[in-house]
This record gives sequence, C-alpha cells and structure tokens, in this order.
Amino acid sequence: MSRSLRRPQQIFALLMWLLSLLFAAALIGLGSLIIQDLPSVDKPLRLESFIDQDALSKINQQRRQLRSEVQALDRSQQNARDQYDSASADYNSAKATFDNWIKTRTATQQQEQNLEVLRRTQNVETIKNRQRESLADLQRIQTEARQTNIRLQDANTELQRLQNAARPAFDSVRRSQVFKVFLFRLALTLPLLLIAGYFVAKKRKSSYWPLYRGFVIFALFAFFVELVPYLPSYGGYIRFIVGIALVLVVGHYAIRAMSRYLERKKNEESRSESERRHSIEYETALKKIAAKTCPGCDRAISKTEGVATFFCVHCGIRLREKCGSCGETNLTFHRFCLSCGETTQSHKDKTTPENEPAVV
Ligand SMILES: [Zn+2]
Ligand SMILES: [Zn+2]
Repeated sequence: MSRSLRRPQQIFALLMWLLSLLFAAALIGLGSLIIQDLPSVDKPLRLESFIDQDALSKINQQRRQLRSEVQALDRSQQNARDQYDSASADYNSAKATFDNWIKTRTATQQQEQNLEVLRRTQNVETIKNRQRESLADLQRIQTEARQTNIRLQDANTELQRLQNAARPAFDSVRRSQVFKVFLFRLALTLPLLLIAGYFVAKKRKSSYWPLYRGFVIFALFAFFVELVPYLPSYGGYIRFIVGIALVLVVGHYAIRAMSRYLERKKNEESRSESERRHSIEYETALKKIAAKTCPGCDRAISKTEGVATFFCVHCGIRLREKCGSCGETNLTFHRFCLSCGETTQSHKDKTTPENEPAVV
C-alpha cells in the first residue's frame, strides 16, 4: 500500500479488501446452497444395474451358498483335525504303554500272560482303528472343501464374465452422464465468468470496485472449484483442449494489452516533459518513485554513484528539482518543499494558466 495515501484511505483500502472477501464468501455460500437444492443430475451409477438381473441374482445366490458351505467345511475340517490329533495322541500313549508292558513280560517270560497279550494287542488295535477312521474323515472333508472352493472360484469367474460383458454399456452411460454434469455446471459457471470478465474490463475504476472485486473472486472460485474438477477427461483430451484454449485467450488479451500499453507510452513520450509530468497522478507518481521506477516511462530509475539524479535517463522526465527559495532538493512530484514549505517550482508551473498542459 502506498505511503502517500492518506491514513483513512489506507484503512479504507484494507476494509474494502475485507469487504470484497466477505462478499465473495457470502456469494460462495449462497451458490453452494443453490447447487445443493438443484435437481441432481449425477445419480450414482452401478455396474451391477447393467447386468441381466436374473443371471446376477442367480450367480450371487450361488456364491453366497458356496461361501457358507466353504465356511462350514472349514469348521468341520478343524474339528476333524482336532479329533485326528487326539486319536493319534491316544494311540501313541497306548502303544508306548503296551511296548513297555511287553518288554517287562519278555524279561519275566510268564506263560500265563499269553491271553493278556492278546487282549492288550486288541485294545491297541482298536485305538489305532479310531485314529485311521478320524484320518479318513479328515481327508474326506479336505477333498470336499477343495471341490467346493473350485466351484466358488468358477462362480466368481462367471460373475467377472458378466461384469466384463456389462462394462461397455456402463462406460458409455457413465461418459454421457459425466458430460451432462459438466454441461450443467458450465451453464451455471460460464455466465458468472463472463460477468466477472466484464467487471474486470469495465468497472476497475468504479468507486464500487470492491464489490465488483468480491464478485470476481466468487466467479474464480466457482470456476476452479465447481467446474474444473468436473471437466470430463476422455483420456485427457478435454483437459488439454481447454488448457490450450485458455492459454490462447489469455495470451491474446495479454499481448493486446501490452501492445496498447506500449503504444500509449510511445504517444506519451512524444509529448513535452512538463505536459507528461503533470499528467501523472500524484499517488501513482509517489508509489512508482518509492519502487525506484520512473513514473514517466516505467523503467528503473538509473543512478550513478556521487551524481544526484535529477532526470530519468530514458525518457528525460524531471524527477528532482532545487527549491526556488531555500535550495533544498525535492521530488518534482511533491507539492511543497520538505525544508521550507514553499510550493515547489513544478506545482507553481502547474497552477499557472499559461503552463497548463494543452489538451491533446
Ligand atoms: Zn523515464
Ligand atoms: Zn525550500
């Protein structure tokens, strides 16, 4: 913010920025409420609704059935394994007991124990049979589980096939829906952008500019948040085409503005030094000098060590002058001498009728 502005003007400029932002925020809030209340064009699409419903419900029913079968088989398999483990443990301990008993018997050679050998052998054999049976059970369940899993895989493959068959129709409907949503949003945003462009072009000098600026911020927000993310991609085509179009439009206007500016400067520089100097606004001149830029030609003010800069070396505009009454050096754009308070020579010239710049 320029230091040459009056204090209340500085505060006013800040407040006006705040006002612009508040206005933009209110417009954005209102806009999003309006968009929410509009009939929605983007109903969620599901791939499933493009598959033959009878076939789909049949295959899903089948998959549910098979999945619960697989779960049940997993549980039975766990049970069968537990049973087999416990039967194996029983057999191992019975076998160990029997082996020990046989060893002691061989050592003592007691004839009357033959019947007992037979009975104990049978007992171990019975336990062994239980182990065999539980192993057979386990294997049978494992086989069944494998088969059921294969059937489940087949059902999944079938579902995949149905989905793949439905995908082209789904994609085409989705593409057209994306395009519809985009057109709908474009219809809402484009008028805002056009109005904002008109405001920027025509209303920048208006004293109501802070309000127009709020609207411009709102339109830019709407463009970048409500429209750009909804650009249909089509493999990037639309994005790049829109990008190219934007660059062309912005480039065209920037180049035209630049050549208009150069033309204006050239015309200005053909006028007399005093005419040019007096046509520059007070605030603008002080702002540019503070930024070390010539207020006449907008080039950097050239300086040489030890030499006081009185003129712009590029356009010849007078930047400083000596006070007529005290000899102090002043900026030509200042109205009063900073040392003695006398009206500066340039401003005396300006107010003298014969030196008034001629109307071109
Ligand atoms: Zn200059
Ligand atoms: Zn003075």
